[in-house]
Amino acid sequence: MVLDTGPNIIVTTLEKIWNWGRSRSFWPLTYGCNCCPIEMMAAGAARFDIARYGYEVFRASPRQADLLIVAGPVTLKMKPVVERVWAQMPEPKWVLAMGNCATSGGPFKDGYSVLPGCDSFLPVDVYVPGCPPRPEALFHGLLELKKKVESGQSGRGYKG
Ligand code: SF4
Repeated sequence: MVLDTGPNIIVTTLEKIWNWGRSRSFWPLTYGCNCCPIEMMAAGAARFDIARYGYEVFRASPRQADLLIVAGPVTLKMKPVVERVWAQMPEPKWVLAMGNCATSGGPFKDGYSVLPGCDSFLPVDVYVPGCPPRPEALFHGLLELKKKVESGQSGRGYKG
């Protein structure tokens, strides 16, 4: 089919085109700790099918990922590991905190070994509450992140 668009022109910037593409093709890191990742895995299975949004390319290496979904609590022992993984991801990159543990420590927040949310050391872009959040909630969070990336509002570097 030939689409005759006539003598129209579109004026935009390269940044907008890049962000348009980035927002539709997140490559999440295959990372999870505790029970929330089970819902994340379900999101990738046939019933929920994360591929509908173009976000199904979970990578096993941080060097190939641009989205860190922190699913589950981050303990003091795991913090240096998550920091290293985050540092190895190329920019631009984003963080989604999935579940109450990742957003605030959840039921373990009063424990001696669990951080009260991963935003204490990561620049979280989107929070998805729930214990655990269902796959639909993760999709909602991803679509909120899509809006932010498309509008150029997020994609910060390492918080330190
Ligand atoms: S938020 Fe609930 S379901 Fe998710 S890791 Fe914490 S305890 Fe498990």
